[in-house]
Amino acid sequence: MNPAIKTLGLRCSFGKQVAVDGIELAVPPGSVYGFLGPNGAGKTTTIRLLLGLLKPTAGSVRIFGLDAQSRRAEAARLMGALVETPCHYDHLTARENLAITRRLLGAAKSDVDRVLETVDLAADADRRVGGFSLGMRQRLGIARALIGRPRLLLLDEPTNGLDPHGVLDVRRLIASLAEREGVTLFVSSHVLAEVEQTATHVGLMHKGKLLLQSSVAALRSIQTKTVRLKVDRTDEAIGLLGAMGFGSARHGQHSLQVDASCAEGAARDLAAINVKLVERGIKVFGLEVSEPSLEDIFLGTIAGVPVPDRSMSLVS
Ligand code: ATP
Repeated sequence: MNPAIKTLGLRCSFGKQVAVDGIELAVPPGSVYGFLGPNGAGKTTTIRLLLGLLKPTAGSVRIFGLDAQSRRAEAARLMGALVETPCHYDHLTARENLAITRRLLGAAKSDVDRVLETVDLAADADRRVGGFSLGMRQRLGIARALIGRPRLLLLDEPTNGLDPHGVLDVRRLIASLAEREGVTLFVSSHVLAEVEQTATHVGLMHKGKLLLQSSVAALRSIQTKTVRLKVDRTDEAIGLLGAMGFGSARHGQHSLQVDASCAEGAARDLAAINVKLVERGIKVFGLEVSEPSLEDIFLGTIAGVPVPDRSMSLVS
């Protein structure tokens, strides 16, 4: 099956400013793709390129196999989007706002009730939008993007500016959308937590480049445990660990860290290691097992720390 999004060498400059620098996105159909990166990374520009709202300086975009430039209208029909804060007619009701979009797109009449239900606004359908909270306005924006049953939904920073309650509502909605509407979701955010629970795939943008692209499952599988020991006689402890088959290195005067390649085993055998050290008369002040979070991996990648397995640039 064709990828929902495939870009080749996609690039976009504004004068001398390169906003998107030759990225190769591969978004599998049916995935929830978290498009992450700090402010100014190039996320919004990428979304505009995907939607055909901006012309690439170089490279190409395919949406479910359709070239987004030569078959723009067809590709556009496959997509729904929420880019920045949605604009609604405040003097009209939610239902009336959606009816306008439905007529413009020539979508089925039943779409309006369906999307109101999906975004949990059915009870407020006949209220004027002027009285809606920001969170409700955002959900209405997502409802509008769902009219016409798009196969791909692009949401740009969907929780920006919302209060914690609104953030939670929109996050829950995103989690349910893939299931309820059967769409592929492409969600940009500068906060990993936004998509960490729901994303099946992630891409990490920084300064216009796609630094990392992976399925979340592959990323989690390379998260290596680290074991840190605090002891009084560090060199002796390193020797003893070596005799037990664990490589380790000094990490400060009274601290040592077990090699990443051995850490998984060391984490399992922590009790045995402790007993051996104590038997030898080495005082153990601390034993700590830590596992880097996805956030750690991302921050490390941005800081230039190599990811253990680059083969995780996966398409499926
Ligand atoms: P944010 O979360 O802050 O919106 P972003 O990851 O979406 O960040 P973009 O908005 O795509 O980033 O911007 C990427 C870079 O391109 C930034 O340096 C921005 O200033 C620049 N840029 C974006 N749009 C334009 C434009 N129309 N003209 C000139 N420069 C632009």
